[in-house]
Amino acid sequence: MVNEWMVEQPIWFANEDIHEADEPYLPNLLAESFSSWKREAGDLSSLRAGQYRVYTKDGRWQGATRGEAEDEEVDVVAAAAVESAMKLDDASVVSTAQWDATAIPIRRRRDRSILAMLVFCARRGTPVTRNELESAALHYRSCFYRSFEHVFVRDLLLQQERTDKEADRREALFLAAKRLYDQTDVTSVLTEMLYSLETLYPNSEVHLYLSQDYVDGDPRIKPLMFKNTAHDIVAKAFLGGKPAMEFERDGTMRLAVPMTGKQAAYGVLCILVERGKWDESDLPAFQLLGDTAGTAFENAKLYEQSNLLINELRLINEMTKRLNQSLRVKEIFQFATNELLTIFEADYCCVLQLDKPTNRFIVKSSNVPAMASEQFSPEYGFCGIIYRTKEPLIISDYWNTRVVTSKLMDNTGSRSLIATPIFVDGEVVGVILVTHKVPNFFSYDNYKLLQVMSTHIGLAFTNASLHAEVRRMVITDNLTGLHARHYLDEQIQSRQRKDSFGSLILVDIDYFKRVNDTYGHQVGDRILIQVSNIISSTIRQGDIAARWGGEELAVYLPGIRTDQALRIAERIRAQVAEETDPSVTVSCGVSEWTFDNEKISVESLFYRADMALYEAKHKGRNCIMVGDHH
Ligand code: GH3
Ligand code: MG
Ligand code: MG
Repeated sequence: MVNEWMVEQPIWFANEDIHEADEPYLPNLLAESFSSWKREAGDLSSLRAGQYRVYTKDGRWQGATRGEAEDEEVDVVAAAAVESAMKLDDASVVSTAQWDATAIPIRRRRDRSILAMLVFCARRGTPVTRNELESAALHYRSCFYRSFEHVFVRDLLLQQERTDKEADRREALFLAAKRLYDQTDVTSVLTEMLYSLETLYPNSEVHLYLSQDYVDGDPRIKPLMFKNTAHDIVAKAFLGGKPAMEFERDGTMRLAVPMTGKQAAYGVLCILVERGKWDESDLPAFQLLGDTAGTAFENAKLYEQSNLLINELRLINEMTKRLNQSLRVKEIFQFATNELLTIFEADYCCVLQLDKPTNRFIVKSSNVPAMASEQFSPEYGFCGIIYRTKEPLIISDYWNTRVVTSKLMDNTGSRSLIATPIFVDGEVVGVILVTHKVPNFFSYDNYKLLQVMSTHIGLAFTNASLHAEVRRMVITDNLTGLHARHYLDEQIQSRQRKDSFGSLILVDIDYFKRVNDTYGHQVGDRILIQVSNIISSTIRQGDIAARWGGEELAVYLPGIRTDQALRIAERIRAQVAEETDPSVTVSCGVSEWTFDNEKISVESLFYRADMALYEAKHKGRNCIMVGDHH
């Protein structure tokens, strides 16, 4: 094919000639073309008469025809002929007693400089015409150039083939890169890259080693580990930032290319290619794919991270907003529980608060009914660990790492746990436990997010606690510990809107001025406290005792009619007379309101109780009077 094409068409490389740079190939080319000349010149008469040889310009012998000139003397005389012809720059004959050697220059086609020498050696006087030798030389020369062109074309074709192949690869690579950049999640990037490699390098084995703690189901993806860096080309490629290559005993080539993005290296691509299937020209393509994948991987990673971050911020923002809407501790914990269950897709959640007076962890909120209002010693379970260490913790499988016994874990059959302390002023005031039945359920990111959230829950808790404390201070009388007057007013007002009736007892210490005068103000205060305590212990939860003013105290009894209020007042009166020290007595005025009163008001209720009290004083004190029912 190639030959025909060459002969029929005047082609551009017909003017190409062998260059200085090609000199090393010349001897081979001379020998090769000499063989083909020999075949073509089969019936030349001179071939029987003597021996043709081909020499390089510097007299190195490259080939010979059959003949009887197997003599050292012939070698000498032929070499001398070559040397002489070189000097003359023309054909030259050198003779000895026995032999003639004729050297004819073979010239380059471009500048006619000497390329080689064709030498004819024969017994002295052998009749061979100069013309015959010249035409043999010309024939040889054309054989030489044919071989040369052949090689030239072969090189060209090879180069073209290589270029085509590279173009194909570049095309495939471009497509692969484009597809890679289209991926916005890490898993797709990895899958796409492995797919591209398999398409580009069929019959090869591809492995991907990742430096990040990235878990993927694909068996071709492995974590990057450094065992023996000196012998590990994967580690070498990763640390050196450039491809590393090695050959195994059976000739298989292992090539490792780092997957590098703009900020860091993310892993190493490793490809195993059978002997003979690898082409050096594939290396740049492979390297480019590694870089492309690195950048794509980085982009996807950043995208994922920023998405996570945005999500996290949104969650935290939302939670904080809602947490701060409530100033009730119980509500905050309840809300936190629901929120955490949703965010982490957890099975169970439990929020405990450390109760200072009893020094016990009390379950404040949980979606596990069995845990409701449970109490634990601060040494017990995971709460105990967190209380002691002040550190959050993550348990990937409770069944395998039973560091402590946990009622929550056991009762619910949970295996995964993330837990964190709730801090207020650096002190552990509570603990959050979030669990799941499946082992290894929570990620490290979950664990970190829970920590962030616990900070916000802690802040909301602090706010609520402060608020509750301030409120308690506002509605409580400092000396007696009873409620303040405005609180009593508010409460009665609200009860009068909801209830059908209620009673009020006004309590006034008899001759208290005298007590003060006799024992001093401090003792007077103590008596006031004693009386207040008697009142507090006499009434039920839901009744409201308050300091109405000075040494006058008041008790509102919701849902109670006069007769019952009288009995309660009587108990107070009797107990004060009996238990105070120094002993005092009290007088009481009782009043009631019912839904059918013409006018229902706090003022009216007080007015009538006050009038009754006045009557009691008038009657001689240490007694109880009931106000008019209107
Ligand atoms: P009466 O039997 O008529 O009630 O005689 P009384 O002396 O108790 O008279 P009144 O109720 O009008 O007196 C109020 C006195 O109680 C005035 C004040 O000296 C005393 N007092 C009021 N508040 C306090 C208090 O907080 N501590 C002390 N130690 N005394 C108070
Ligand atoms: Mg008094
Ligand atoms: Mg008084």
